[in-house]
Amino acid sequence: MRITGAVLERCGAPAPYVESRPVTVGTLELGPPEAGEVLVRIEAAGLCHSDLSVVDGNRVRPVPMLLGHEAAGIVEVAGPGARLAVGQRVVMTFLPRCGQCAECATDGRLPCSVGSAANGAGTLVGGGRRLSRAAPSGAAPSGAAPSGEVQDVHHHLGVSAFASHAVVSETSVVPVDDDVPPDIAALLGCAVLTGGGAVVNAGRPAPGDRVAVVGLGGVGMAALLVAVALGHEVIGVDAVPAKLELARELGAATAVGPQEAAEQGLRAPVVVEAAGSARAFETAYGITAPGGTTVTVGLPHPDARASISPLSLTAEARTVVGSYLGSAVPSRDIPRYVELWRAGRLPLDRLVSDRITLDDLPAALDRLASGAALRQLVTF
Ligand SMILES: [Zn+2]
Ligand SMILES: [Zn+2]
Repeated sequence: MRITGAVLERCGAPAPYVESRPVTVGTLELGPPEAGEVLVRIEAAGLCHSDLSVVDGNRVRPVPMLLGHEAAGIVEVAGPGARLAVGQRVVMTFLPRCGQCAECATDGRLPCSVGSAANGAGTLVGGGRRLSRAAPSGAAPSGAAPSGEVQDVHHHLGVSAFASHAVVSETSVVPVDDDVPPDIAALLGCAVLTGGGAVVNAGRPAPGDRVAVVGLGGVGMAALLVAVALGHEVIGVDAVPAKLELARELGAATAVGPQEAAEQGLRAPVVVEAAGSARAFETAYGITAPGGTTVTVGLPHPDARASISPLSLTAEARTVVGSYLGSAVPSRDIPRYVELWRAGRLPLDRLVSDRITLDDLPAALDRLASGAALRQLVTF
């Protein structure tokens, strides 16, 4: 079928993206779902830092690639053997879980190796791509098809949701009930799964433990919301004053800049770093209490290096833990967040800073890069 989607033409284009225009919106051909796959009509898709990381070249992926990995939609066609029914609302998650590999047996601690390999290759977990288009004219990347020929387009993290429709593996989605609106459902798939999981699955604070979050973007603010919902005293740390104000509104007991956090000697037994920079990691480590755990979920540039004192690790019996996708098992964790949301304890609508269309993506990428945006939702 014919779909409309936003395709990243090249990695590493310079900002501002409203000028360099690395993302183009156009018509693509979407193949039918194969065994164990479903065709989903996208209702809402969030713009996440992991999209920006591919655009700015921090995470180099094969192009052309149809971006977008945090989304919700309705199943319109079920492929052969698929268990999901037509009409079912689903949350997309950005790491398919094959359920068969050794990593899938680690209760979320390790990312599925089969899903990770497919994500790296820009294919679906079942192999291959369902997206293609007529190669655009003009300066094509080396190795791309000549203008006018049919060209495969890569999937982004098994989802590719910046489009009217997507074909995804059933292992990339989790069903939710109809009372969960699309905006909320979309956020569950990345921001909440990653941020909430960093707290619950990786940090594992004891009841009453203080929790600090460094970096209050979509993922960090979701971590803060989940920690507040679970009754923890929360410290929010960010350099942007407007984000500190929102953190206080959302229930943070304290919200300060990184410098103030150090000067005031703030400490917490569980600290989540969600900014994706080496300096944020150092800040997070610096405010972790003796015996405490520093959880890092950010994705800094591969060349980034942080400096910490190995002596403090030993002498203060500290733990540093990396967490991908919030060490989550999506089918287990998403229903828990839905319950918190239904109980009125997870005001996820507060994470949505803008509603945009596919054509607004370049400006939205600029807002995200500037630190001004939380979650900007593409709606259709
Ligand atoms: Zn994301
Ligand atoms: Zn697996």
